[in-house]
Amino acid sequence: MPVVKQKEKQLRAEIIDGRALAKTLRESIARHVAVLIEDHKILPGLAVVLIGDDPGSVIYVNNKKKAAVEVGIRSFVHHLPKNTSQDELLKLVQALNGEKKVHGILVQLPLPKQIDANTVLKTIDPAKDVDGLHIENIGRLMTGMPGLVPCTPLGCLALIKKVEKNLTGLHAVVIGRSNLVGKPVAQLLLRENCTVTVCHSRTPQLSHITRQADILVVAAGKAGLVKADWIKPGAIVIDIGINRTKAGGISGDVDFDDVSKVAGYITPVPGGVGPMTIACLLGNTVAAACRQNELTAPHIG
Ligand code: NAP
Repeated sequence: MPVVKQKEKQLRAEIIDGRALAKTLRESIARHVAVLIEDHKILPGLAVVLIGDDPGSVIYVNNKKKAAVEVGIRSFVHHLPKNTSQDELLKLVQALNGEKKVHGILVQLPLPKQIDANTVLKTIDPAKDVDGLHIENIGRLMTGMPGLVPCTPLGCLALIKKVEKNLTGLHAVVIGRSNLVGKPVAQLLLRENCTVTVCHSRTPQLSHITRQADILVVAAGKAGLVKADWIKPGAIVIDIGINRTKAGGISGDVDFDDVSKVAGYITPVPGGVGPMTIACLLGNTVAAACRQNELTAPHIG
């Protein structure tokens, strides 16, 4: 297998730098935005809806707004109080669906208890669903049709392809089966002709399965779950997990120092998948703006 690095030739895994790749992606997106404005008089617009004041969500929304503005995308932030009713939110989403200046709509999750996330997600116009969570876009991903793909899984695939272009025939193991991350990552890897195994909290002998992985993607939300003896020597390890540390920072689901002694490539936390998620959101917004104006969505990268 080409992907598995010859461990005897290296001492530690090569770090896949998500910050650097995201910067390259954002620069490419900024060039596409400039062309859309100059040649087609289209200014891509992204609406982000935030309900309540969860500190993590406030930071994410501010980061998304800042990143959008930096590449030339117009950003509309709708910050509503935490007691907003489902009807009020649905009315806002419907208004954004009809707003010509808005090409992408993102409703920041999680939502307060009184609001059903599935009802909100299926109200978003699929053509503006830049988070790729509408059932139509999930169906498109499942059936191989073009559509909007969830941002974190897209970012993961870009990180993997940064170090290995041809994934055909490789065994990819995904830990986690959420609609947001695990399932769409598995679909993308299947589309790349990987043999995919999806694991979850009820999977017995998890480490036995992960040791067979040429590519291991971890999205469990369990700090330090994956250790060195779970890894096939030379494998690509992508850590999606974000866990708050006691010191106020974040850590991943992979024991980075330990696993680096065995893996061929590894993403750090922070600085791996996180920056790619936001860059892919911007890419999806540009793709949505193009398709809504009957232009071919550019390949951004
Ligand atoms: P989630 O909805 O809680 O799903 C977690 C998945 O992991 C579930 O399928 C669960 O299995 C599985 N799991 C939990 N503990 C496990 C264990 N000990 N062994 C095996 N499987 C286990 O979380 P999510 O939304 O997918 O997010 C996962 C992680 O990624 C979180 O840390 C989240 O913060 C992070 N994340 C990061 C980004 C980013 O941009 N970097 C974006 C999104 C999410 P069951 O289905 O059986 O319960």
